[in-house]
Amino acid sequence: MAAILAATLSTSTAAAPPETPPDHPLRHPAGFRMEPAGPLREYLDAVTTNWLLPGPKANPAILAMFADRDRPPYRDLLPWSGEFAGKFLTGATQVYQATNDPALKRSLQAYVRSLLPLQAEDGYFGPFSKEHRLTGTAPNIQGKPGGSWDAWGHYHMMLGLMTWDEAVGDPEALAVAVKIADLLCEKFLGEKKPRLVDTGSTEMNLAPAHALVLLYEKTRREKYLKLAKQIVDEFAATGPDGAPLAGDYFRRGLAGDEFFQTPKPRWESLHPMQALAALGRIENDADRRKAYANLWWSIARLDRHNNGGFSSGEQAQGDPYHAGAIETCCTIAWLALSVDMLKQSGDPVVADELELSTMNSALGMFSPSGRWSTYNTPMDGFRQANFHEIVFQARPGSPELNCCSVNAARGLGLVSQWALLVDDATGGLVLNWYGPGKLAGRLKGGARVGLTTETDYPRSGRIRIKVDVDRPTKFALGLRIPQWSTATKLAVGGETVADVKPATYKTIDREWKPGEVVELDLDMAPRVWLGEKNYEGRGSLYVGPTLLAYDASLNDNGPDDPEPIDARSLRILPASDAKGPQASIVLVEAKTADGKTVKLRDFATAGADGSRYRSWLRVEHAAATPFSREHSFRTGPPTE
Ligand SMILES: [Zn+2]
Repeated sequence: MAAILAATLSTSTAAAPPETPPDHPLRHPAGFRMEPAGPLREYLDAVTTNWLLPGPKANPAILAMFADRDRPPYRDLLPWSGEFAGKFLTGATQVYQATNDPALKRSLQAYVRSLLPLQAEDGYFGPFSKEHRLTGTAPNIQGKPGGSWDAWGHYHMMLGLMTWDEAVGDPEALAVAVKIADLLCEKFLGEKKPRLVDTGSTEMNLAPAHALVLLYEKTRREKYLKLAKQIVDEFAATGPDGAPLAGDYFRRGLAGDEFFQTPKPRWESLHPMQALAALGRIENDADRRKAYANLWWSIARLDRHNNGGFSSGEQAQGDPYHAGAIETCCTIAWLALSVDMLKQSGDPVVADELELSTMNSALGMFSPSGRWSTYNTPMDGFRQANFHEIVFQARPGSPELNCCSVNAARGLGLVSQWALLVDDATGGLVLNWYGPGKLAGRLKGGARVGLTTETDYPRSGRIRIKVDVDRPTKFALGLRIPQWSTATKLAVGGETVADVKPATYKTIDREWKPGEVVELDLDMAPRVWLGEKNYEGRGSLYVGPTLLAYDASLNDNGPDDPEPIDARSLRILPASDAKGPQASIVLVEAKTADGKTVKLRDFATAGADGSRYRSWLRVEHAAATPFSREHSFRTGPPTE
């Protein structure tokens, strides 16, 4: 809810870079395993069954576009067609990491086995014809010659292959990523003309910098690191007229400039920006980490909407109330950026952001059936399938492929990348995800720890976590205390734990006996974000991580815009009331100014049946709620 403070502080125009806090790095644990239950599991299973399993067969051009890249007449392509195969693989693999679904694994194995042989001899792995490989132009873009995002497509291919290799161990897939990197080095490393930045569409085509750092970590081949750094230097490139050719992310980020004011504030820029975090980590480079942190906080403060979605009209605008489309790809990029930020900073407020974006936007961008996702998941409006809204991307052989449909599942799968982390400083675990189910991973010292969570969170804040260890084991367990939970109760082994503060990790360092129980009660008191600008006079209501929305279909086809809601009257309804043809995750009842009762539901399922929904509501008595904008939500790194 960092943007809540944005609402109160946005009058200040000085962009002084925030103090850099000491980083507290977190890592993905070895031996990680996740078996979620509850609403997340229902979505993961639905998306697997109805989209990830049938997707490639229903859209065979996802692979065929590579097989016939040199056969005239050339396919009519989009600048970004080459991204589909890699984006799909990344998202589907991360869903697999969150479920270990054996059918999904088999399906992806077959997909990867069909994909790998389609790489060209020289390492090229795009859909464009030979003379146009990685040139940034092609003759067959939407019916005419035009710019191509060819290096961007290779970025997604490399990321997909590396993610798959990490999940299941597939050296052949990794070798294909290596061959792509070798080709990029051959074409662009050193004093080559043109430089990668000269191939245009630089928000997109400079993204390989990120994948090259990750591949360097796996292979230790120096040339990948060199090319990554060269591309990061090209972020600052200018043309003959002195105008920026690229986003200048490092210098502008380090100076504390707002992301929306950088030269390339489109969403694709977030992926090349991830190279700053990756380089900052492996080279222990404080400036690169600081630039990354500044850019991240700028987006959290000024461009992350009430539903956790990022972008307004496909780019940053410096206004969380902006009504431009909140594109699925943009929120996915924001989640990916935030996972890196959480691992870099160890700041639990970043995990709060990930939870907010996941529980509202990432779930909300899918039909609960899992069959389709959106292009735009607006704060107020309708849910529409991207198959319809951006149907211009459909092609023969790929009626359902577009930038968002191949990307959306990653939002759910990414939970596997932040749910449970290892704290490098303590060697213990840090728990971020409080949904029901099981999580497991190894401590830094190697011992395996399982955590079984029983809860109906986020419907209530009552969370019971059983610690599964083979024998009494001493380790530190960090528990995320959300910034919105001001009155948290915590007990371990039946004994109350004191001094539990919001926006911190509460670390319990002790010898854990097998079956020991952590009892956590988060403060689910409703709270309000009072709107400004477009939403002056309205408020957004939250319970825990859940944004509430009004859905006329839940209210006997009530008015489009309900009478003002008394913020003091919110009452969470029991689970049994949440059933129905379109079950809600959270269901709430409230009184309106005219004495009527309205029902509100979680943002994720609001409007799923095609009715209009609203998350900016007319609200009364907001100041009387336990959380209003007087509450000190953090909008920057902690100050020591
Ligand atoms: Zn998209």
